[in-house]
Amino acid sequence: MSSPNLREVLAEGEVGATVTVQGWLRSARHSKGLSFLDLTDGSSMAGLQVVAPPELVNYESEVRSLGTGAAVRVTGELVESPGKGQRVELRAGELEVVGVAPDDYPLQKKRHSFEYLRTIAHLRPRTNTIGAVFRVRNVAAKAIHRFFQEEGFVWLHTPILTGADAEGAGEMFEIEGGEEFFGRPTRLTVSGQLEAEIGALSMSKVYTFGPTFRAENSNTSRHLAEFWMVEPEMAFCDLEGDRDLAERFLRAVFRQILDECGDDLAFFDERIEKGVVATLEHIAETPFEHMTYSEAVAQLEKSGRDFEFPVQWGADLQSEHERWLTEERVKKPLVVTDYPAAIKAFYMYANDDAKTVRAMDVLVPRIGEIIGGSQREHRHDVLAERMDAQGLDREEYAWYLELRRFGSVPHAGFGLGFERLVQFATGMANIRDVVPFPRVPGYAEF
Ligand code: ATP
Ligand code: MN
Repeated sequence: MSSPNLREVLAEGEVGATVTVQGWLRSARHSKGLSFLDLTDGSSMAGLQVVAPPELVNYESEVRSLGTGAAVRVTGELVESPGKGQRVELRAGELEVVGVAPDDYPLQKKRHSFEYLRTIAHLRPRTNTIGAVFRVRNVAAKAIHRFFQEEGFVWLHTPILTGADAEGAGEMFEIEGGEEFFGRPTRLTVSGQLEAEIGALSMSKVYTFGPTFRAENSNTSRHLAEFWMVEPEMAFCDLEGDRDLAERFLRAVFRQILDECGDDLAFFDERIEKGVVATLEHIAETPFEHMTYSEAVAQLEKSGRDFEFPVQWGADLQSEHERWLTEERVKKPLVVTDYPAAIKAFYMYANDDAKTVRAMDVLVPRIGEIIGGSQREHRHDVLAERMDAQGLDREEYAWYLELRRFGSVPHAGFGLGFERLVQFATGMANIRDVVPFPRVPGYAEF
């Protein structure tokens, strides 16, 4: 049986109306002859207060022994709430206990650590924090599709099982039995970029949005072994166009999250990360800063900071460097461009200086790199030589090189780590807490 979700009832339910709602109890308080139940169905941060009077036929037999976690369906009248922070509450006329929850329900009122909650991933979406994270995650996904659809991009579905080796993107999980089944070694994809280039070179503007996998032993608060990536790719586009897209994209997505997730964001701001709302507002309103890698290195050298990893032209920027640049130097999102060729993938467009390539990383406070992208090398001979120099087999990438022979055009794109975006928007410290079922080294439960 379907009934309106609590979000609608709380926002629009009229005083005096009779409604039926269903959900789980976040708490139950039984006072003398009256019970107060805090009901939630996961649709909103706020719950609906249900007041259950002793006139209910099952009051003594069932209602009085209800505890946290039980599932109920309630029909009653919405009345004005005397409590503050809530417009209406529900006077129960009928209360059906759909599923009881005994006393050993693990989510009693006290606060639990996020580490503990990960061990009960089957119940953790019922908590305020994780419920809010998943609602924000949903709106973020919706906003991503909306942005690209409105900009005329076509959503391209790239394979998860792949024979290609997206060189440089990361270590891959091998498919056991892949060789036998497919007649060639197969792996789990680390990126849909190369396939997205095929899409862009025929449909002009495409994007991918799906799972990717990295078999890296990265035990950090920003890395998962399975995560979602968003990879737009545009033909007839250079790095400036790419950078401009990344900036408009991030700002539009944050704007929609701000518009649709007010209550959840207020919760994150109060309980998880002070200032997260102000930061999102700031980003949605302010143009990003840009600088080249060489400028960034010069700034870092002048900073007078004692970094754990030395700063040196030619070495990749470490997370501590990225964070200093975006958090302290420019105090807003920063796009760093034109990285040394030696630390970037073979497919990036070579600058005339013969030392750098048209790569960009978008850095944001707290997270560091949220987007990595580049203009792609579309000149056949330059690309082929670069592949030779890196010891890549031209045969393996025959189709990729061929794209550069038939109507090759400048093109560019980027990859956004979806969980990093959700992490940034919610202020959650650990990426494992913004994905329903985290996969990390040594852990793949559920
Ligand atoms: P990092 O240097 O942070 O490990 P990367 O340079 O390996 O990232 P890319 O290959 O550029 O990452 O991937 C594109 C985007 O995907 C990154 O900007 C980041 O947002 C996200 N990303 C990369 N690796 C992971 C991971 N292991 N878990 C979650 N998100 C990731
Ligand atoms: Mn990167």
